Amino acid sequence: MEDEGPECGKPDFVLLDQVTMEDFMENLKLRFERGHIYTYIGEVLVSVNPYQELPLYGPEAIARYQGRELYERPPHLYAVANAAYRAMKRRSRDTCIVISGESGAGKTEASRHIMQYIAAVTNPSQRAEVERVKDVLLKSTCVLEAFGNARTNRNHNSSRFGKYMDINFDFKGDPVGGHIHSYLLEKSRVLKQHVGERNFHAFYQVLRGCEDKELQELHLQRNPALYNFTRQGAGLSVLDSDEKSHHQAVTEAMRVIGFSPEEVASVHRILAAILHLGNIKFVELEESSLEQRGLAVTDEVLVDHVAELTATPRGMVLRCLLARTVASGGRELIEKGHTAAEASYARDACAKAVYQRLFEWVVDRINRVMEPRDRDPRRDGKDTVIGVLDIYGFEVFPVNSFEQFCINYCNEKLQQLFIQLILKQEQEEYEREGIAWRSVEYFNNATIVDLVERPHRGILAVLDEACGSAGPITDRIFLQTLDTHHRNHPHYTSRQLCPTDKTMEFGRDFRIKHYAGDVMYSVEGFIDKNRDSLFQDFKRLLYNSTDPTLRAMWPDGQQDITEVTKRPLTAGTLFKNSMVALVENLASKEPFYVRCIKPNEDKVAAKLDEGHCRHQVAYLGLLENVRVRRAGFASRQPYSRFLLRYKMTCEYTWPNHLLGSDRAAVSALLEHGAGRPPGRVWGVGQERAGLMEHHLPLAPQAWRG
Ligand code: ADP
Ligand code: MG
Repeated sequence: MEDEGPECGKPDFVLLDQVTMEDFMENLKLRFERGHIYTYIGEVLVSVNPYQELPLYGPEAIARYQGRELYERPPHLYAVANAAYRAMKRRSRDTCIVISGESGAGKTEASRHIMQYIAAVTNPSQRAEVERVKDVLLKSTCVLEAFGNARTNRNHNSSRFGKYMDINFDFKGDPVGGHIHSYLLEKSRVLKQHVGERNFHAFYQVLRGCEDKELQELHLQRNPALYNFTRQGAGLSVLDSDEKSHHQAVTEAMRVIGFSPEEVASVHRILAAILHLGNIKFVELEESSLEQRGLAVTDEVLVDHVAELTATPRGMVLRCLLARTVASGGRELIEKGHTAAEASYARDACAKAVYQRLFEWVVDRINRVMEPRDRDPRRDGKDTVIGVLDIYGFEVFPVNSFEQFCINYCNEKLQQLFIQLILKQEQEEYEREGIAWRSVEYFNNATIVDLVERPHRGILAVLDEACGSAGPITDRIFLQTLDTHHRNHPHYTSRQLCPTDKTMEFGRDFRIKHYAGDVMYSVEGFIDKNRDSLFQDFKRLLYNSTDPTLRAMWPDGQQDITEVTKRPLTAGTLFKNSMVALVENLASKEPFYVRCIKPNEDKVAAKLDEGHCRHQVAYLGLLENVRVRRAGFASRQPYSRFLLRYKMTCEYTWPNHLLGSDRAAVSALLEHGAGRPPGRVWGVGQERAGLMEHHLPLAPQAWRG
């Protein structure tokens, strides 16, 4: 490997003299201090967020990695991107790069660098269609971040959704399309943010970035403190000039991607409507007569704004805010007035849903533009894929809710996949090939995944059952049912089951022992968030909008309330299904892993908080990863591929061998390299040659002997 300079630690943790947490941390720290934020564990890349611009990226750096083997250059994201790209191109293998780590660890930055690398090394012949696709791929990030990212206490540009992006390549290895899957947008953020956090960037960008004239048309004023949904984060505004330039960049990116000016204007109107909706308040009237409802909106001009911006009839908007339609006894429809509390709840549900649909529409819109054209339906080995997964890491707050529950379940699933692909498969391969192997102990989290997703009794199933029951099933009853089913589960406990446990007071109802640590969940809101329902009246209202963009987001508004008989799938079940599909998809590809580590909680450069890092190293299973990797061969290839690359170095194999099998030929080649005549077997398994890469320099001339 190219020299990184003196005293930079080991570029691969596999080369440590001993695999202990102390040694691991020492190497990590040493490298971090020297500006080497990347280190390998075999082909897995460990990355520590530097929180400062390092001169590691850009065209020159890309050129140094292009077409090289992983071990030829110092560890880098580019090397991983290159390895995934070459596996895809050379062997027509679908590959994926799974980026994991906690919030602020650098996942999204990593995925950006990977995309930039791929964009830089492809399309040497400058085909126009490929350039278009690349442009959309790169620009899509900027748009998605405007709508899906927000400032949080852990990361000023935190992705509040999971993202998996497929890039399709043609037989030349050029990107010809792509597809984005988004997972579980944190839509509760539309309504409320923690202290020190903000709503999604898009709101502030519209407020700060739109021209005066447009802002007037949106009936908005610049100050985010004037709107309930942006008030909390108002004091935390990024520099106004930044917000404005972001707004310009996003608008420009939308234009390049192919959003029409009308669509962009609709998007702004929808964002404005949400802000106005958030300011609507209700009063219960003392005297209500037949003409006068028992409930009124305090500021009717807001209703005018919402109606105008959503291009819906004002009377209908008002009606949706104050009452709902219920089907009583068959087909008879009656109108049932809301209480003030019900109306506020419905208003919030509507605001969240409108934002979520907007986000999904944006993703969809980008996907339509990236749909590979002239795609061969049989794929035929011509259209291969690299997937990049940038998804939320494990989350623990003092009080955790349904969202954290889903996110942590997602991390359990991904850890399962990691165990399967990296740890388990590795061990099984050695056993299969009859190579001596000492088993490495690791914690298998299958039992936790089972606790969550098992049919009938798993937490999600119990939750769905609670949501399906008629009558007022409370979160408490849900908790009791969990207790009955899981009282003996080693990874589950609750306040009732463990009355002496002082850590579980009110609001911390049950605890799951996740692979990454213990998390306390509050059941409050679980049922409601899982049901995730919106009155059909709102759906109908928005479906009846004369704005084609908005209308397209609400196809289910077409139905009449009496036709809505089937209970829609719950949020939890939808999420579970999407996770199962994701894991299946990833498992079918050749995986590359980037494990991101956040060096400190203060988001500052040159500070590595050891305790914090240790915890991440532990739960990412990095030590086990090193042990497994060390126990075996650091690099391996099928005999045929090894021969193809090295047969010219040996008279017995060049230009062709007559040794019966490729295995025998590789054996002869290695014996020859070691200066021995052919005939003796040198540490080879039945199907593959195992090579300790560090003992065997890559360039064949070097060991020609
Ligand atoms: P995550 O997606 O894991 O939550 P991000 O990728 O958004 O984290 O990174 C958080 C912040 O850390 C970024 O906004 C950036 O300031 C900084 N950062 C992350 N990776 C790098 C890097 N390679 N070089 C410089 N700064 C980085
Ligand atoms: Mg992110």
